[in-house]
Amino acid sequence: MQNTDSANYPESALDLLLSSVSETIGMGFRFSQALIRWSKQYGRQGLPWQGHKDPYAIWVSEIMLQQTQVSTVMERYPLFMRQFPTVKALATADLDAVMALWSGLGYYSRARNLHQCAQQIMEKYSGKFPNTVQELETLPGIGRSTAGAITAFAFEERAPILDANVKRVISRFFGVTGNQQNHKTVQLLWEHAIAILPKSKSQMPLYTQALMDFGATWCTPKTAKCQSQDQSCPMMRECKAYELGQVDRIPAKTKKKQSPTFTTHIFLFRYQDEILLERRPPKAIWGSLYSLIETPWEPLGEKIIHPKSIDVKDLLYQTCLANHLSKNDMDSIASIEESHAIEHIFSHRRLRMQPWIIYLKRKWSCRSAALDWIWISQLKEYGLPQPIRVFLESSSR
Ligand code: SF4
Repeated sequence: MQNTDSANYPESALDLLLSSVSETIGMGFRFSQALIRWSKQYGRQGLPWQGHKDPYAIWVSEIMLQQTQVSTVMERYPLFMRQFPTVKALATADLDAVMALWSGLGYYSRARNLHQCAQQIMEKYSGKFPNTVQELETLPGIGRSTAGAITAFAFEERAPILDANVKRVISRFFGVTGNQQNHKTVQLLWEHAIAILPKSKSQMPLYTQALMDFGATWCTPKTAKCQSQDQSCPMMRECKAYELGQVDRIPAKTKKKQSPTFTTHIFLFRYQDEILLERRPPKAIWGSLYSLIETPWEPLGEKIIHPKSIDVKDLLYQTCLANHLSKNDMDSIASIEESHAIEHIFSHRRLRMQPWIIYLKRKWSCRSAALDWIWISQLKEYGLPQPIRVFLESSSR
């Protein structure tokens, strides 16, 4: 006789799947609601880009925040918005003006992409920001997470975000131990990010901001709240990493390669109150910014620059003559001054620059469109890499 008591049947794969889905949905709902409650007490308030519904203002803040600290963005964002208050103002601006305003924020491809993206929004969408993740993702410099943030904040769409902080929170909460560079791990994190979205669209702006704040201030890489004396994390009861005692091991750490060091000589040509700048190619490091004429970057290895052992005139001759200047120009050098070496650290490399100040008796004529004599008093109007700006400001007085 067949037993009709379902409790005696082994659970089918479908039952298991359904119970796991409903558990995840329940967990997701609890996560989003706990996070929203948390943000009312602990979320960051009064940031200049908060509370906006204008997708342009949201987009600019999201791009600026990508690799720049909040305290710096707090200062620079209002200046940017004052100079370029609309997507049209940004699209029609000179790239130099955008680069100049971005000076010091680093990762300059962001500024070039902002400018290019604004132009595409004007051309393809008549200046109206697209409101779907799919369309936004086709624009320069906008990835899935940024597109999610723009649509969640501006259009209350149920679109997930997955920046580095959010990846960490989700990895810990769900106990995802895989390598975060791995495509499958990232896929899984996106799936979890979707599962924990609030059901109501109207909660999306608050929830998205709360998730960003929680990752940035509470579930941080080194000092997750649950690891401190203050055991008040609202996620503790369901957080897998906490349950397993693996908070310090999740997400898995990737071994950082040692950054190689490169070396270059940079030349500040000076004639009275004018200096010679060279615009860098768009695809180079510090692309489209103005800088000084330089020798090709070489891996430093064991080699160390000993300025005294260098024949600077010969170096100048090799560097400049072929491209920009005539042989007769060398006669107009009044004096050459050695300056202190400059060290600059990029995300994946270091650069050691040896500057030389070349005083001229007469101004060299430029045969390259990339070269420009500018008045020292005009420096602020040019987009310059930060270490070059600091060097020029201290040596051009
Ligand atoms: S319990 Fe700890 S690891 Fe888990 S979400 Fe909270 S702070 Fe992060």
